[in-house]
Amino acid sequence: MSDIINILPDSVANQIAAGEVVDRPASAVKELLENAMDAGSSSIQLIVKDAGRTLIQVIDNGCGMSDSDARLCFERHATSKIRKADDLFAIHTMGFRGEALASIAAIAQVDLKTRQHDSELGTQIEIEGCSVKNQHPCSCPVGTSISVKNLFYNVPARRNFLKKDSIELSHIEEVFRRITLVHNDISFSFHSNGRLLYDLRADSLLQRVCQVFGDCYKDRLYPIEEESDVVSIKGYVSKAEYAKRSRSEQYLFVNGRFIKHPMLAAAIEKAYADMIPEGNHPAFFVSLKVDPSRMDVNIHPTKTEVKFIDESAMFAILRAATKKALGQFSLASEIEFNPSTDLEFTPLPKNYIPKEPSINFNPTYNPFTETRTTRSENNREHWNNLFELNHQHSGDTLSPTIDSLSPDNPPHDEFELDEKQQFFQIQNRYIACSTTNGLLLIDQRMAHERILFERLTEKTKPIGGQQLLFPVNCQFSAVDADIMDVIKNELIHSGFELHRMVSSNVFVVSAAPLNLNDNELQDFFDNLISEYKGSMMDKNSDRSAKVFSSIARRMAIKAVKPLLTEEMRQLVNDLMKCNMPAVSPSGERISLILSSEKIKHLFKFPN
Ligand code: ADP
Ligand code: MG
Repeated sequence: MSDIINILPDSVANQIAAGEVVDRPASAVKELLENAMDAGSSSIQLIVKDAGRTLIQVIDNGCGMSDSDARLCFERHATSKIRKADDLFAIHTMGFRGEALASIAAIAQVDLKTRQHDSELGTQIEIEGCSVKNQHPCSCPVGTSISVKNLFYNVPARRNFLKKDSIELSHIEEVFRRITLVHNDISFSFHSNGRLLYDLRADSLLQRVCQVFGDCYKDRLYPIEEESDVVSIKGYVSKAEYAKRSRSEQYLFVNGRFIKHPMLAAAIEKAYADMIPEGNHPAFFVSLKVDPSRMDVNIHPTKTEVKFIDESAMFAILRAATKKALGQFSLASEIEFNPSTDLEFTPLPKNYIPKEPSINFNPTYNPFTETRTTRSENNREHWNNLFELNHQHSGDTLSPTIDSLSPDNPPHDEFELDEKQQFFQIQNRYIACSTTNGLLLIDQRMAHERILFERLTEKTKPIGGQQLLFPVNCQFSAVDADIMDVIKNELIHSGFELHRMVSSNVFVVSAAPLNLNDNELQDFFDNLISEYKGSMMDKNSDRSAKVFSSIARRMAIKAVKPLLTEEMRQLVNDLMKCNMPAVSPSGERISLILSSEKIKHLFKFPN
């Protein structure tokens, strides 16, 4: 038999490697920005067209490259950052594998201009699919400008796999944030299709967070700082009251690199213990410095997971440092400090009397003002199932009120619960009502979320809001302001009146739903945007439904809130008229029944 093994040509090998390094425009952006930082730049510009499909350009003012390096940098395993295996344990640069440019050049048309500060002329080099088309001297500023055009032009499968521009752009934006949030000593700008999205000056970390997420973050964060042999920690954690439903604003960095480390993120979250409701998460921007020899350096270029030798010590230190930050700056006496950590905590001042927290509420607000008159088969089925189930167990007849929903008694559209039906609240959280066959328990917040959601999605007319005494200005980043434009119709439908100020990222709000206070608006929109960004990744999601579901969740009554009997009755009535009364729009269970059988059983001692 003849030999069958070939060594693949470089162009093919590079294309295969490119599949790992560059899977979408955002990963090319990451590699180019990292190279610009490794070159010691103090100012970096990112320019993209069509979400990076047509053009990704990164211009830096770093060290530049010599003529021959400009050619060599596109070879595989060509790097100036390490020379020998031992160097792997002392990496201080973002890149070190020498793979990125070779991979990018294999799947795009690349145009590089570069000049070192001691050269009068620079070099321009054009490469397409690994082969050099042109190289000649050129005049250009000190530093490097690299343009990556028509990404995946020779890999149609990959090109077809790309998502909508808005999704690809949001991935690029996330890469940009992950880099700029930790390199606040470098100026960055970001243009997309000719529009300036970010213009970030070199400034303090706090200023950088505010430049990226909006000025309001100044008042939302506590600084966190700790020095130890194992790790040094610097950054900001959010105040408990600004916790969000998503983890989209959790940024953890190690030695200047964004990482995902669920255990360390949990260390920070754990420090909040009972301060934030379940399912909510604090925001944080925390930068760790660790001796590179104490971590696994062999990080895959596109992966963000990292391993540390001293993981459990880091966990304890990070949690304690977060508690310290929260304790020191909020003077929240109820935070339980963990005595097992050996960090020192600043004690509360002597004779310190905690201030009673003030609660904002609208005394005229009644969440139950609207009654509805439609009910569907779905709804009927739910209530039937709920009560039928108990029926089978107990053989009892149902109470006259609920009985009207049994299969033999199809509900009337005007059905209302009997006035004599008693309700009571458990822990100001659940509504309980006795039926002849058991105990019906309803989660009041979930129920209200469902009712609001169906009102928003079913009503064709906008729901009336209340004019604000003074219009409120809400400020956003450029990208977030664009999202506000996208979801504006849903907001108007929900009772807001708002418009974007000409050529700015400020929205003026002149009317809002009844139960939202002026000072809650910015936070309300920020949360909505962050949830919207999360849902954008899911291409099957219906935008309006997602936005309405977020709005309903934000506007629903508190999980814990005392209710009057009439309010409970109204809530249960409204819930019974919903199309899908069993689950909340966010997929949680709304009601359950404890049958008399089950209750009886609970009283029995086990044999
Ligand atoms: P790595 O960053 O892992 O070394 P790359 O393929 O990204 O590999 O880059 C190869 C080499 O090209 C780098 O080691 C560096 O010497 C040089 N290089 C790349 N981009 C720049 C830049 N913007 N400025 C100066 N040198 C650069
Ligand atoms: Mg690199």
